[in-house]
Amino acid sequence: MSSNKMKFNTKTIHGGQIPEKGYGAVMPPIYQTSTYSQSSPGKHLGYEYSRTHNPTRHALESSLASIENGVYGLAFGSGLAAIDAVLKLLSPGDEVISTNDLYGGSYRLFTKIFENFGIKFHFTGMNDPVSVEKLINVNTKMIWVETPTNPMMNVIDISSLSKIAKSRKILLSVDNTFATPFLQQPLNLGADIVMHSATKYLAGHSDVVLGALVVNNKDLADKLYFIQNASGAICGPMDSFLTLRGIKTLHVRMERHCQNAKKIAVFLNNHNGIEKVFWPGFETHPNHVIAKKQMSNFGAMISFTTKGNDFNKAIQIIEKLKIFTLAESLGGVESLAGHPASMTHASIPKKDREASGVVDSLIRLSVGIEDSEDLISDLKQAIDI
Ligand SMILES: *Cc1c(COP(=O)(O)O)cnc(C)c1O
Repeated sequence: MSSNKMKFNTKTIHGGQIPEKGYGAVMPPIYQTSTYSQSSPGKHLGYEYSRTHNPTRHALESSLASIENGVYGLAFGSGLAAIDAVLKLLSPGDEVISTNDLYGGSYRLFTKIFENFGIKFHFTGMNDPVSVEKLINVNTKMIWVETPTNPMMNVIDISSLSKIAKSRKILLSVDNTFATPFLQQPLNLGADIVMHSATKYLAGHSDVVLGALVVNNKDLADKLYFIQNASGAICGPMDSFLTLRGIKTLHVRMERHCQNAKKIAVFLNNHNGIEKVFWPGFETHPNHVIAKKQMSNFGAMISFTTKGNDFNKAIQIIEKLKIFTLAESLGGVESLAGHPASMTHASIPKKDREASGVVDSLIRLSVGIEDSEDLISDLKQAIDI
């Protein structure tokens, strides 16, 4: 069956995969090799050097393209390496409009590395696409979107932005790390580039750091493959294998992640020690309607603040959690808790951070796939004291 006819739950397992020729191995072998023999200069079986191509990475890249309903997949050594490759499509003088509450590492890469190379970034809330349009000028070459945003869980209307981007010939890139293609497929909604920190849900077991891009356009793909090979920020065969293995259970994990998150969001919302819960599944969430339209479920990332925005209480909760582990990152089978202001978002100036809602009492949860009753008891004992 051709990959684009499969349903999502089949694509995660078979999408883009070709039978292994050597011994009929069901899983692609880990081709732990840097180079490949040639019978005569330039004559080889399709692979010459592993920075350029590697069969295990290739199997992963085909899988990534398939699950995002795209044509071309590219894998990198980390999510940031993937973003770095996208930004190298730009030239000095070019401008980028980006969501304002984005992943701290993306913000750091934009402002501390690429601004030095003459690229200008504008950060704005994108709940209102008109505010984005106002920032566009002749130099604007890219719109960079994260949705749901990290850690405030704003949901941005990809399809409306894609209309604006297309009419102005601007590339629309979407960081789909939080939603995964199980919940949302940005290319279908008109995005040009989908980016992933596969470190998170795609690999899903907190055992690998890896990044990904998926595109549909051949010219764009050729430019990105050129950058991938020329800059060389590729992932190794073992990490490619682990991510491919993770993707095979993505749909099953995501279902449970979402089920657990819903129960936890409701629990927190009803708890009188909690001020505010940020989760797009609530009808009161400002972007609930868009979330319902562009996502198939609401995800498993939840942020909340303590009653009266009490910083000490927030730290106390984080320290008392037993099943939720205090750690950076998200999207693994295990539940994690984080304190964005001092962890993932510490590199964003306090004033900018607070303007986007990342106050000092904000706690971010990555809800795992443990038993939901255990997770709720854990939160209860930590909050109640
Ligand atoms: C983690 C993360 C990144 C960066 O990915 P790495 O794999 O850590 O380099 C980018 N965007 C989002 C939304 C992330 O959560």
